[in-house]
Amino acid sequence: MELLPTIPSRTETLRAWKAQGGGVAAVLPIHYPRALLRAFGLLPVEVWGPPRVDPAPGAAHLQPYVCSIVGNALSFLLSGGLDGTDVIVVPHACDSLQGLGSLLLDFVRPRQPVFPFYLPRGRRESDLQFLTEEFRALYGKLAAATGRAPSEAELMESIRREEEADGLLTELHRRRRALPLTDIAFYRLVRAREYLPAEAFSALARAVLDAPPTDPRAGVPILLSGIVPEPMALLDAVAEMGGVVVADDLACCGRRLYPSGASPDPFRRMAERILNGPPDPTRGSPIAERLRHLVGMARETGARGVVFYDVKFCEPELFDLPLLRRGLQEAGLPSVHIEVDLNDPLSGQTLTRIEAFLEMVLTLPPPPSAAGEG
Ligand code: SF4
Repeated sequence: MELLPTIPSRTETLRAWKAQGGGVAAVLPIHYPRALLRAFGLLPVEVWGPPRVDPAPGAAHLQPYVCSIVGNALSFLLSGGLDGTDVIVVPHACDSLQGLGSLLLDFVRPRQPVFPFYLPRGRRESDLQFLTEEFRALYGKLAAATGRAPSEAELMESIRREEEADGLLTELHRRRRALPLTDIAFYRLVRAREYLPAEAFSALARAVLDAPPTDPRAGVPILLSGIVPEPMALLDAVAEMGGVVVADDLACCGRRLYPSGASPDPFRRMAERILNGPPDPTRGSPIAERLRHLVGMARETGARGVVFYDVKFCEPELFDLPLLRRGLQEAGLPSVHIEVDLNDPLSGQTLTRIEAFLEMVLTLPPPPSAAGEG
């Protein structure tokens, strides 16, 4: 039996938030300090494209080899899709997003202030200090834009609220196979973290986690990596083919299971949380670290293969793939790489490749210490 509490839509969430006098920050992927925005009364609402928009307005400003996350975001903005937002935050996750940030600041100049910030590509003390200072600078820009100046105590309160939501998000991922949710229902829930206030997300997550566990769902267990599972119908299609997603390394989901921070300085603590998250090519994580992480997750969850589900022209993903896939193969984990454009429907070619992959996985012996199929 499926138990999924009603998840408010983005539109409902924004309407309710604005009705209380709150502001909205449109945030581009991937890593950013949610708590900082909330401390200024801004609800972070993430812009992963969105899928299926008319790409023409953005295409006039971008090279044809820029990914559809960036292309669609620009088209959406130019078509008025972000009119209800008060600020735009552009983390420099990759060259394409960095380019978008410059384009917005220098040429497009939307009505809303645009706040880019840099993410370091390592985890050294110097990286932590750098990101801490980036967040301090962002605080200054937000203060100028909103006329507010949240205290340290207010920042810490905001951080604790996000840490609680992220703790529950991690628990949902950890127990995903025994939750009373299909894969698509699971992803609708965890992706609500992209726009719900942390406290509303935590209430939904608790309701699901408090439900009695169910028997693990049967199917060929796979690990889903890549950027974003769009169109979401992909998840139902995988289930119909006999697959079950048991572990996640998606940029929008599993790579953002941030642990709680330790520092009493709120800016450093927000930076710690992001830098101590799971490995991610957009944060410059070494391939060996990513490989250990993926193999470890597969061993823990019984995943028998990895599906890399990427957005076309995603350079950070493409750089890692050859070595990552070779390492996975050596560890007994086959993989398949699929690239999509956010404006395309789920194609027969994609489905055929995934189906063939699931069939092939079943012919191989399970990798060492895998828990096996349900
Ligand atoms: S899909 Fe890849 S290239 Fe596009 S915004 Fe995301 S990380 Fe950057």
